[in-house]
Amino acid sequence: MNLKRPLVLLAACLMLAACDEKTKEETEMPYEITKTEAEWKKLLTPEQYRVLREKGTEPSFSNQYHDFKGQGTYVCAACGLPLFDSETKFDSGTGWPSYYQPLTEKSVRAKDDRSFFMVRTEAVCNRCGGHLGHVFDDGPKPTGLRYCINSASLDFVEKKDK
Ligand code: FE
Repeated sequence: MNLKRPLVLLAACLMLAACDEKTKEETEMPYEITKTEAEWKKLLTPEQYRVLREKGTEPSFSNQYHDFKGQGTYVCAACGLPLFDSETKFDSGTGWPSYYQPLTEKSVRAKDDRSFFMVRTEAVCNRCGGHLGHVFDDGPKPTGLRYCINSASLDFVEKKDK
């Protein structure tokens, strides 16, 4: 009997297992803060709930932070996790607050988003899973990334020491 076939089968199984592992890691990494939708509804304003929990998008230009230039930190409106530094905010011309990088590697989680017949990268809060916006690769240096974020997902904390 020739050994080729079992070896090919074994290789195929290993590849499938590796893919499965990757999917699991992406979809099942638990969030530190979890609440029922009823609890989130009580905590958030209707607009915050629509954006953060239902992945809504607020209108461009008529939102709180698109043209805001304060010095400080933008935090998750749902759980307070620090997400972006005002130093990394730039005027993208889109009418949404835009940043070229999150505050730390653990602030924002990137997820595949295949809704509306597009393949995009969704940005969510890494602590509560709240929807923030999307990440595009047409941003400025040094990262070349553009985190296009809904103001409704953010609160602003001003820098105290001048
Ligand atoms: Fe959060």
